[in-house]
Amino acid sequence: MKVKFKEILAAENFNLTEDQLDKFVTYSNLLKEWNKKMNLTALETDEEIIYKHFLDSLFCLKLDLNWQEKKILDVGTGAGFPGLPLKIYLDSVEVHLLDSLKKRVLFLEEVIKNLNLKNVFCFHGRAEDFGKNDAFREQYDLVTARAVARLPVLLELCLPFVKKDGFFIALKGPEGINELEESKEALSLLGGKVHTLKHFIIQGIRQERVLIAFQKTSPTPSKYPRKAGIPQKRPLT
Ligand code: SAM
Repeated sequence: MKVKFKEILAAENFNLTEDQLDKFVTYSNLLKEWNKKMNLTALETDEEIIYKHFLDSLFCLKLDLNWQEKKILDVGTGAGFPGLPLKIYLDSVEVHLLDSLKKRVLFLEEVIKNLNLKNVFCFHGRAEDFGKNDAFREQYDLVTARAVARLPVLLELCLPFVKKDGFFIALKGPEGINELEESKEALSLLGGKVHTLKHFIIQGIRQERVLIAFQKTSPTPSKYPRKAGIPQKRPLT
């Protein structure tokens, strides 16, 4: 299994040390083990986990941004994607993982302990509430989110956490292009602009990915994010 991990990731120019490979293997085993008792992810085979979780998460690094020594928040991280693969690959970053489901946070704590990861912290709660808290608001160089909400909603959940000039990175499929069209109002209200958009194909599973990096251009007005549930009910479109 370790050899397969190494080959697949190396084919995309992610060359891992033995220690990083061991960490990915342990993470994959924990995912499969915990998946038997709770619904963490729909994926079960090692190959699916490598391509759709690990490699997909690492693809963020193909955006031409500076990641080293940054403070990163992963919103709606679920079983840790993309936040934990990024931390395994980039030792120098501090990663905060936020999710509204307690059982997922318990899983993340177990992974962090087993992998002996430093500078990774988990938080249980909703982005709408954490985004109002000064300890989190406008505190991050980089914020990431995958499969959490449509872009106009996601921007309201994520941009408040980003420092001025920092980036929010949305991991999307091809639907990201249409969602971007619907996001002009949200971007102008929340203080962001599109910085980079890149298309990728995850070879091996032939899935198209659209990665969009939004740069924070001005502070988000204090009325955003609105109360929990409102961004989803009344998106800023
Ligand atoms: N990002 C992970 C991935 O790509 O595998 C998980 C995706 S899962 C479909 C969506 C996750 O977002 C769930 O774990 C859910 O609990 C979390 N979530 C949804 N809305 C949220 C919110 N408003 N604040 C925090 N977490 C949220």
